[in-house]
Amino acid sequence: MTTKTSYVSKSVQQLKPSGIRKFFDLAAGMEGVISLGVGEPDFVTSWTVREAAILSLEQGYTSYTANAGLMDLRRRIARYMQEQYRLSYDPEGEVIVTVGASQALDISIRALVDHGDEVIIVEPGFVSYVPLVELAGGVPVTIGTNPENGFNLTAKELEAAISPKTKAVLICSPNNPTGSVLEEENLKELAEVIKRHDLAVISDEIYSELAYDADHVSIASLEGMWERTIVINGFSKGFAMTGWRLGYICAPADVSQALLKIHQYAMMCASTPAQFAAIEALDKGMEDVIEMKRSYRHRRHYFVDSLNEIGLSCHTPGGAFYAFPSIEKTGLSSEEFAEKLLLEEKVAVVPGNVFGKGGEGFIRCSYASSMEQLQEAVKRLRRFVEAHSN
Ligand code: PLP
Repeated sequence: MTTKTSYVSKSVQQLKPSGIRKFFDLAAGMEGVISLGVGEPDFVTSWTVREAAILSLEQGYTSYTANAGLMDLRRRIARYMQEQYRLSYDPEGEVIVTVGASQALDISIRALVDHGDEVIIVEPGFVSYVPLVELAGGVPVTIGTNPENGFNLTAKELEAAISPKTKAVLICSPNNPTGSVLEEENLKELAEVIKRHDLAVISDEIYSELAYDADHVSIASLEGMWERTIVINGFSKGFAMTGWRLGYICAPADVSQALLKIHQYAMMCASTPAQFAAIEALDKGMEDVIEMKRSYRHRRHYFVDSLNEIGLSCHTPGGAFYAFPSIEKTGLSSEEFAEKLLLEEKVAVVPGNVFGKGGEGFIRCSYASSMEQLQEAVKRLRRFVEAHSN
């Protein structure tokens, strides 16, 4: 009798595990490690926001909400989009509350992609994009960026990657892992190409609150782009709410209703207490968001200057909380650098190659750590670079 080697589908068997995990696992077993590896705020969610969730539980709000989320929350999200980013959405049919930006990405990709459709992805980029496109039966077409362009995609590069099979372009600004920001002029040039080829856009704006040098601009706010863009955002980063798992999608009604079909079958709705917390975050949490942003900006300044001084050349990231320095000076590969740094100096960073094309030769360091930890990390990094410079 022949036995089946595995019941797991081919598409999942072929999926590569995230390269970030390996370093977390290594670091977890060691004492005295300074982690610049994790992609989340070092702040605890504002007390008023936590209290709103507690109150909702005390009051017995423990059942499902509408599939698209609490209407009160959707109204506030629509108002927030209007006030912050000049984007107009109808809370009735154009806003969906999701389980993090992660689920928002998953259902957006699944709603757009037919088997064999190509999705253009900018790299170095967030580790989920390529696997999610592959799981949806699509073909990821990746474009590598570099520090000479501030890790930003140019219109020319975009144009060159488009084929008759291209369905959508996935952009992320401010970017994880590079911290790069697509400015309005840059977005306008990309938008012209996108419109000319009649493509859809998935715009991951999860770090929109954390743009330090200029106001965040959403590509959906540019002429002719609202109707072809799915805007993804959430509460994880700007509001320091990663563990609440709450995000949202804003998109034209026809696309939103398609997304809602997947959402209602796969998820029903996002967590109810988290939705009550998010209402409070939008009503009363903005001061804390601004304060956290001020703190990240201060740390960015210290950390990026220090990296450059050590000889790890680093472009100034315009947003998010990541520095993405070059490690060329050491002659080590990204993986070698990250592994040796962890073993010799007990500093955890993420090797740039896990973020795809253009990432080799770089490391990602999150500066969402205390100033004391950053100072100690700089001391250790300096020693490491001196020991490994050729
Ligand atoms: N998009 C980007 C670019 C991210 O960096 C992350 C988290 O690291 C996510 C989406 C997922 O965020 P969430 O916690 O809202 O699922």
